[in-house]
Amino acid sequence: MKVYLDNSATTPVAPEVIEAMLPYFGDEMGNAQSVHSFGQRAKAALESARRQVAKLIGASATETVFLSGGTEADNLAIRGTAEAHREWGRHIITTQIEHPAVLATCEALEREGFRVTYLPVSGRGRIDIGDVRAALREDTILISIMQANNEIGTVQPIREVAEVVAEARQAGAKHLHLHSDAVQSVGKIPVNVSELGVDLLSVSAHKIHGPKGIGCLYVRKGIRLGKLLYGGHHERDRRPGTENIPAIVGFGRAAQMACEQLEDRARSTEKLRDYLERHITERVEGVRINGDPSNRVPNISNLSFEGVDGESLLIALDLKGIAVSTGSACASGSLEPSHVLKALGLPREVIRGSLRFSLSAFNTQPEIDFAISTLVETLARLQEMSAEG
Ligand code: PLP
Repeated sequence: MKVYLDNSATTPVAPEVIEAMLPYFGDEMGNAQSVHSFGQRAKAALESARRQVAKLIGASATETVFLSGGTEADNLAIRGTAEAHREWGRHIITTQIEHPAVLATCEALEREGFRVTYLPVSGRGRIDIGDVRAALREDTILISIMQANNEIGTVQPIREVAEVVAEARQAGAKHLHLHSDAVQSVGKIPVNVSELGVDLLSVSAHKIHGPKGIGCLYVRKGIRLGKLLYGGHHERDRRPGTENIPAIVGFGRAAQMACEQLEDRARSTEKLRDYLERHITERVEGVRINGDPSNRVPNISNLSFEGVDGESLLIALDLKGIAVSTGSACASGSLEPSHVLKALGLPREVIRGSLRFSLSAFNTQPEIDFAISTLVETLARLQEMSAEG
């Protein structure tokens, strides 16, 4: 049996999504900018997908920018704000547990003279609203805080952050913007840009059973943003380049399904995740749940096991057909311990023994039962080996 429990890295593409995309690799190959009927049909498909994606996050279609994925969305949100508002201020607030797409963009801006405050998080991975308020300066132009963390699943109080932003604006901070990386929350919990009160929000298709290499940045109407790329007038002048129609159509279909099935998917995934956690913690001694069990997306479980190396456990499980991860896909392969688990204040050995299980609605009960029994056996074998060695 093969069991894929690494859905935070990427999800299997839904068959319905593949079906929706196929015609756009064949006869429907038009360029959405062309005037003839091929172009018009491509344009219609593009706009229909835009409405589907916009609906998933409660935006209007004109507030969405299609681009190459979550990484580009984060880059455009942060660098675009920095470019457009640098004459009013050069201070950015973010957190220590953001995805590298946010952290590395902020670090690049620091090298260009911006100042960045990296907010700490609690032992469960939540920011403190008081810290956000205290970090605000007259020259702060952007707060970028992820909605759900990709390693531990902790959900941040974005609405409360938006209230702080609203207060600051009332007090005169006209150039302050709020961005949230919602790559791991969209399709998992209800996400509505108006209710959240964000100006910018990043989404990626391949985390919601859509294709890779396509995503969207929500840009609230009226927001001024610099550009990453220069070229034609695509995407309302925010992102040039011939639109990737097959991927966009797939993203649209995936968004539509995520919208229709949100509650069912969340319920079934959470049930399986909780079952997995319960059975592992009952059958294995010294397991620690990392993150915030009462404030997290329904599909992620980050666990630390005593006396084993997460990397060895991952490889042993892979040999038995079970795919998990030791942190974010981008950080794995590096010898550096996870910056997220470090920010929680966990000791090195606990970080070393951690594994992330991330589920999707495509996982089944027999798969989870197989994963539990294989994990229990594998752990016993590894712990025995390390005790002997
Ligand atoms: N932000 C978060 C929180 C993520 O988990 C990821 C992907 O792992 C990204 C951004 C990057 O998205 P993409 O893979 O679409 O570039």
